[in-house]
Amino acid sequence: MAEVRLEHVWKIYDNKVEAVKDANLTVEDKSFVVLLGPSGCGKTTTLRMIAGLEEITRGKIYIDGKVVNDVEPKDRDIAMVFQNYALYPHMTVYENMAFGLKLRKFPKDEIDRRVKEAAKILGIEHLLDRKPRQLSGGQRQRVAVGRAIVRDPKVFLFDEPLSNLDAKLRVQMRAELKKLHHRLEATIVYVTHDQVEAMTMANKIVVMRDGRIQQIGDPYTIYNKPANIFVAGFIGSPPMNFVNAKIVRGEGGLWVQTSGFKVKVPKDFEDTLADWIDKDVIFGIRPENVYDKMFAFAPKEENTVEGLVDVVEPLGSETILHVKVGEDMITAKVDPKTQAKEGQKIDLVFDMEAMHVFDPESEKAIV
Ligand code: ATP
Repeated sequence: MAEVRLEHVWKIYDNKVEAVKDANLTVEDKSFVVLLGPSGCGKTTTLRMIAGLEEITRGKIYIDGKVVNDVEPKDRDIAMVFQNYALYPHMTVYENMAFGLKLRKFPKDEIDRRVKEAAKILGIEHLLDRKPRQLSGGQRQRVAVGRAIVRDPKVFLFDEPLSNLDAKLRVQMRAELKKLHHRLEATIVYVTHDQVEAMTMANKIVVMRDGRIQQIGDPYTIYNKPANIFVAGFIGSPPMNFVNAKIVRGEGGLWVQTSGFKVKVPKDFEDTLADWIDKDVIFGIRPENVYDKMFAFAPKEENTVEGLVDVVEPLGSETILHVKVGEDMITAKVDPKTQAKEGQKIDLVFDMEAMHVFDPESEKAIV
């Protein structure tokens, strides 16, 4: 297996569309790296440049320490699994998996060994004689992955491989791909716009927007320490609350003051916010860090705000509340036993240890 490295990589289509801008990234050997971002942010282009399917406008791509800019896709020792896995309909599962090796003139018994081993890993040994149309979506997906495994490549590239599957199967395949990663000890670069896929599978997440990498980090860091408003808003469901605010000095220290409420800044954050006193900021708090006071552990008065419940969404394991607080709408993910009723008042408690503060100009995180 191998490391993949991007150094100041740009892709400009037709001298005008800057699809990837100055990407710098290391995909460590045996790691599972997910490129995550909304449609059009440049994920697929990045993956295709690694594969060699797209020319690099500027910069260098290394595989296993060697520059591959001018290396043909077939000589890069990578295997790609696409969203439309395009199995050959007239071939059996066995033939589909063997096809690439046959083209490369592998000996028959070696092909047989590899196909059977891959089929065993993927649990599709009993399907080898079937044609693709006789398979379920998940089984077809496994065959597509099998086609990549038999090649025993240095690097696996996945481009939204689960997006054609239904929700339940996606969850199952997610777990299977994760297991497969451990089992093969493979280096994987995986593209998705689904933040849950990224959070659950990645060792490292690369968040992209408009062709530019916004942040690279492990799932914990990306979730808990987003570098800017975009990352903070993209990861997490429902998304983080953002409220225009000012940091003000008040009783006992610093406070976050919005048009409709005031909550206390924890002592730990006061030094970091010292330069922001009386300045405009964006206050951020995740819905899961806003509690219905009735179910909050040791609620503090200084972190409690009163609001008017606008919408109640019971989800079984939790309830989502949309609450009007002053001029702002706050989303809270609360205990499902909440008594909150639409049109009634509620006290919300903010876990201020989990608060975020952003610079409204640069959109970068301050806290
Ligand atoms: P999606 O999730 O929708 O596939 P993506 O993040 O993978 O999106 P890319 O497919 O990499 O995004 O596209 C990045 C940008 O480059 C987009 O603005 C797209 O329109 C543009 N683009 C992609 N391919 C070409 C091309 N062949 N010629 C011109 N522009 C292109």
